[in-house]
Amino acid sequence: MSITHIVAANYRRVLERIAAACLRVGRNSAEVTLVAVTKYAKLDWVRALVAQGHTELGENRPQQLFSRALEIGDDRLHWHLIGPLQRNKVRSTLPAAVLIHSIDSMKLLQAIERIAAELELEPRVLLEVNLSGEEAKHGFRPDELVTAWEQVLSLRRVRVEGLMTMAAYSENPEDSRPAFRALRNLRDRLRLQSPGGPSLPHLSMGMSGDFEAAIEEGATLVRIGSALWEGLG
Ligand SMILES: *Cc1c(COP(=O)(O)O)cnc(C)c1O
Repeated sequence: MSITHIVAANYRRVLERIAAACLRVGRNSAEVTLVAVTKYAKLDWVRALVAQGHTELGENRPQQLFSRALEIGDDRLHWHLIGPLQRNKVRSTLPAAVLIHSIDSMKLLQAIERIAAELELEPRVLLEVNLSGEEAKHGFRPDELVTAWEQVLSLRRVRVEGLMTMAAYSENPEDSRPAFRALRNLRDRLRLQSPGGPSLPHLSMGMSGDFEAAIEEGATLVRIGSALWEGLG
């Protein structure tokens, strides 16, 4: 089978699984956006996906996001940054990324605010939360975010649109569910804490191994890589 056929079949299957998960919990599948993670994909594979009409792509490294965006060179595409952002890459990332999922500290958020003002941009971001308790994982601890929330509310440029998390790796998707539920509860708590604050519509959670559980728990953005590239390479 050709790359085109394999990618088309994988894509269709992932969209069907998203729709089925939505149906199980009475959600409209239009509420869930598939961010196709291209970090392991060859350029041809990404092009085959784009040829299916898909526009939301995710990279975990700024440098690769820039080079891919340039190589594919299609203005209709939206690139999401889903991995760590160093402060010295903020200036180049802000104009290139439609949404940054992975803000993991107040320092980074403040650097973005300052540079966004200089560039006259209003960047859309999500705050990454570490709910797995693993030291190696990036992100705010939940209590840290609750404490920092007043500072988050004082930002003028940055649009904080929600939260993101990565569950601890496990073979069993049910193991991820408590972290997904905790992210939704934290979002609800922040909303209650500041009713006049941002509405936090987005929850970015769920990857190839656990996106159905994430959707059942309220994900609006699922970040899926390997399930789209199965059978290639
Ligand atoms: C790689 C990556 C994904 C996608 O992982 P798959 O298991 O390949 O679907 C999602 N989110 C982040 C932050 C990643 O780095």
